[in-house]
Amino acid sequence: MTSHQHGQQPSEGPVHAHGHRHAAEDMLSVEEAYERVMASFQTLEAEEKPLLDCMGQVLAEDILSPLALPPLANSAMDGYALRHSDIAGASQENPSNLRVIGLVAAGQMPDKSVAPGTAVRIMTGAPVPDGADTVVPFEETDEVQRKKEGKPLDQVAIFADMPVGCNVRPAGEDVSLGALVLKKGTVVRAAEVGVIASLGLDKVKVIRRPVVAVLATGDELENLGAPLTGGKIYDSNSFSVAASVAASGGIPKILGIARDNLGDLNAKLEATAGSDLVVTSAGVSKGDYDIVKDVLNERGEMNFWSVRMRPAKPLAFGHLNGPGGKNIPLLGLPGNPVSAMVAFEMFARPAIRTMLGKVKIPRPVVEGVLTGPIHNDDGRRVYARVEVELKDGKYHATPTGPQGSNILTSMSRANGLAICPEDLPVKNAGDQVQIIMLDWNEEVQV
Ligand code: AMP
Ligand code: MG
Repeated sequence: MTSHQHGQQPSEGPVHAHGHRHAAEDMLSVEEAYERVMASFQTLEAEEKPLLDCMGQVLAEDILSPLALPPLANSAMDGYALRHSDIAGASQENPSNLRVIGLVAAGQMPDKSVAPGTAVRIMTGAPVPDGADTVVPFEETDEVQRKKEGKPLDQVAIFADMPVGCNVRPAGEDVSLGALVLKKGTVVRAAEVGVIASLGLDKVKVIRRPVVAVLATGDELENLGAPLTGGKIYDSNSFSVAASVAASGGIPKILGIARDNLGDLNAKLEATAGSDLVVTSAGVSKGDYDIVKDVLNERGEMNFWSVRMRPAKPLAFGHLNGPGGKNIPLLGLPGNPVSAMVAFEMFARPAIRTMLGKVKIPRPVVEGVLTGPIHNDDGRRVYARVEVELKDGKYHATPTGPQGSNILTSMSRANGLAICPEDLPVKNAGDQVQIIMLDWNEEVQV
């Protein structure tokens, strides 16, 4: 039997004696499907990498400081390092006159100590000489005047009494030697890169990124760049899914298009070797050629679910008996482009973030006002594509047009998914809604 003769078989979900499929009670709730998927994932192992390559990854070890920061007491200003007791009570009318015995710039070590009645010119970041306890900035001295008048800088008049210790940054002020600077589990952002660099460390141990194999299935799919012939469409799912993998912190590995026949699908699945997760699209619903189900059933322990959500009702999840007998979790997304992206968002993204060791798995959820209705005709939880704007201190969610699961451009116009609960037939304009924020950026002004 060729794939095209592949018979109409009851495929998805329990079939009741009276023949109805997908009655609401047969469907899994989103939460239940989520729990079942997530039970298969845990934090991956660590890898050691050059510091800059670790952005967005999670520290796999505590970072203890091999040094004090700053290593030496140093000046916070360009000015004069002196003894506070020499300037007690100084003012414009009654300045303290000190003898200037030297200069110290950043990167140098002072070669003199400051004795009573003396001062050292000092630049920002330069180590404070022994004996000095305070730095008075140039602005509070006659330095500028002396320079103007061409006078030598071997003397200085101090015009202000400043608190003892002023403008001296003590050694270890930021970090003391041996201190726990960054905890295991911290996400490396630009600030952490800076902190780690300030400790002189050029390599870090982080949780490695998961490799996610991405496989499209369908006889109708054409590769980008090839001309479209009758009945074909371009394979967009491979790209939206691979992009979503990368945006979630994983490493996408595009396996291409498997045709709707056992041989091709089996061959393409060979390339899943070494991946931490396989994400397929299409072939998991009720059509004649949805043979992904057959192959997966043969090659692993798979479950095919109807999830009580719209879009993205059909979902497959289980373990593929992959190349070399290794079990690899497999998530079978529905084929419709929006369903694929929404199912990825709900199930694949949290799985990837869990493997990355991230604790913040869900997106931010905000409460907002709907500006147009969301309909719910069959008791599923609706995730409506909306554009969220902040106006007069409130979030306003506007549905981005037709909500068919094939209308991918409406996903592109959306920055959030507004929820209509399963038990509510409609959310009307003016109603409050929960919105999952897909993008959390300046356009929403947060
Ligand atoms: P299926 O689950 O195979 O019945 O596919 C559902 C719908 O999604 C059909 O209209 C397919 O043509 C479409 N589809 C499946 N795979 C892709 C893909 N990779 N890119 C774009 N559309 C797809
Ligand atoms: Mg198909």
